[in-house]
Amino acid sequence: MNIPENIKQIRQTIPSSVKLVAISKTKPVSDILEAYYSGFTTFGENKVQELIKKQEDLPEDIEWHMVGHLQTNKVKYIAPFVNMIQSVDSLKLLKIIDKEAGKHNRIINCLLQLHIATEETKFGLSLNEVQEILESPDFKLLKNARIVGLMGMATFTSEEEVIRMEFKFLADCFKKLKKDYFPTDKKFKEISMGMSGDYKIAIEEGSTIIRVGSSIFGARSCSVSPT
Ligand SMILES: *Cc1c(COP(=O)(O)O)cnc(C)c1O
Repeated sequence: MNIPENIKQIRQTIPSSVKLVAISKTKPVSDILEAYYSGFTTFGENKVQELIKKQEDLPEDIEWHMVGHLQTNKVKYIAPFVNMIQSVDSLKLLKIIDKEAGKHNRIINCLLQLHIATEETKFGLSLNEVQEILESPDFKLLKNARIVGLMGMATFTSEEEVIRMEFKFLADCFKKLKKDYFPTDKKFKEISMGMSGDYKIAIEEGSTIIRVGSSIFGARSCSVSPT
């Protein structure tokens, strides 16, 4: 596995406007450093423990994204440094991110995670629930948690049409929410969709952020849980 080469190849095949987040979960710090020393600095993790440990052990100028389910009582550990929390799935979580970010005088970019897959196991909000959050009085009081878009994970399937439909749905939700709630807000612009197996379809459907793990770092060992 030549990590810098993998990153370079992915970058060459995607538009420069699409942001690549390298998902380094389960991979050692040495792998991240290989990418880092080749000039790549944007990484994502899905577990708080692992994210904190890696952040401590790695250079300060890395841009960290949290992409996994986040418990409210753990927000305080990542609030001092995390750049984006892609997996916000409740108003309660959003309010705690706001409070903890405020303590450090920081703005934390957040994506609302929509449930777009047919699988029941994946976390995320329905479009209705997102609308409820955006209409709640609490939402208008947020200062340090900034909603910049949506995130979604497609069904794990080889059926390309199913994946494409789910990404289309996410992009449609984005357009609708943009029009209804953020018409003049230039910061609300991100659609995070697409992983190693499906980022090409995701980009065709309007993705602005892709989250790629195994195509950069190699397959993860089976003994660890996949998400
Ligand atoms: C693991 C993970 C990815 C990357 O998956 P790959 O298939 O290895 O590219 C992307 N997004 C989330 C939320 C993940 O947990």
